[in-house]
Amino acid sequence: MANFDVIVIGAGISGLTAAKAAVQSGLRTASIEALMFGGLVVNINELDGETAGSGTDFASNLMMEISELGVENLSETVSSLSRNGNGIKVTTDAGEHTARAVIIASGAKLKRLGIPGEAEFEYKGVSQCADCDGPMYKDEEVVVVGGGDSALQEALVLAEFCKRVHLVHRGAKFRAQQHLIDAIAKHENIRPVWNSVAEAILGDAMVQKVRVRDVSSNATRDIDCAGFFAYIGLQPTCDFAPADAARDAAGYLVTDAQLQTKMPGVFAAGAVRAGYGGMLTHAIADGQTAAKAAKAALGG
Ligand code: NAP
Repeated sequence: MANFDVIVIGAGISGLTAAKAAVQSGLRTASIEALMFGGLVVNINELDGETAGSGTDFASNLMMEISELGVENLSETVSSLSRNGNGIKVTTDAGEHTARAVIIASGAKLKRLGIPGEAEFEYKGVSQCADCDGPMYKDEEVVVVGGGDSALQEALVLAEFCKRVHLVHRGAKFRAQQHLIDAIAKHENIRPVWNSVAEAILGDAMVQKVRVRDVSSNATRDIDCAGFFAYIGLQPTCDFAPADAARDAAGYLVTDAQLQTKMPGVFAAGAVRAGYGGMLTHAIADGQTAAKAAKAALGG
């Protein structure tokens, strides 16, 4: 017999929401998370939209709720999923669990550029959390790379602290929400650096400059700065999922409208799945949809 009705892998907002909805619908539910609960939302000091407060507060409240509702929280790293009779076996660094259904909500992580200096200067000027590290760059210059919602949103956070934010984008226009583009244009201390890519991060003990190349002319120049933040998109965290749970070309899990993957009984919610909307409201909706579908699949 399965240990659990549902195992939710990942305790970001989608996973916590799915675990809450699953346990509330009467399913024996476990939540497995390798790192801290909360996922990427904990990097946000002030949530926008209808949800007020910090990302950490929002995630902590959900975590408390699921614990009180009786979800078993396991601090383990999932290494594989496989079919086990009518159920699914979840193998972790601590052993094996079985469930009648699994919801993969393991999210996505920020991509790295992979340029020289990026790993070397991690925590020495290279960061991917503007809210956490922004105050350290008060009155300094920083470089942000990217032209999507994340880069613009984080550049705006940094602009509150920094003397100047160089927003290096490989294109000639941003691919972000219009309100973010408008806000960037209003900040005199944010300087877009168009048609350019970061090639190397240079320094001694700490970051001192970033080498950028203009992709039209191929000319390079160094921008003096103390901080470097790359926001060039996300990559899904689902190496443990078997090939049966099909992926799209970028590696995101493919689901049907009920968020079931190609592997029956295995659902995917949030940033790990193809077609995820990207906003907090989408994370919550995904968690609820996956839990409802899992309940229905188990005869709810
Ligand atoms: P994204 O939308 O994929 O944008 C990535 C940006 O990085 C693009 O401008 C892309 O350039 C650039 N880029 C990608 N690879 C690069 C490379 N190797 N070198 C240089 N530049 C590179 O990623 P995101 O901004 O992290 O957003 C991810 C999702 O979260 C989206 O769905 C987004 O809407 C959502 N999000 C929403 C909010 C919000 O609603 N407030 C905030 C943050 C994120 P190109 O434009 O040339 O492709």
